[in-house]
Amino acid sequence: MDIPMECIFCKKSSGTGINILGEFICIDCEETLVNTDINDENYEIYRELIKKNIYGEIFLKEPSK
Ligand SMILES: [Zn+2]
Repeated sequence: MDIPMECIFCKKSSGTGINILGEFICIDCEETLVNTDINDENYEIYRELIKKNIYGEIFLKEPSK
C-alpha cells in the first residue's frame, strides 16, 4: 500500500520511499543521500536538512520541563 507522501527534500509527493520517524524521503532523494560522498558539499546540505526536518521535529515534540 503506497500512500503518496511529501518528500522532505524535494517536496514532491511520492508513494515510494522511506519513512523516518514520520518524515518521508522519496526513493530518488534516498538514493541521492546514500550515494552522496561525505566529502561532497551536498552532504552537509542533506545533513542539515535531516537535522532540521527530523531531529528538529523530535525536539519540538519533546515535552517542556
Ligand atoms: Zn525527494
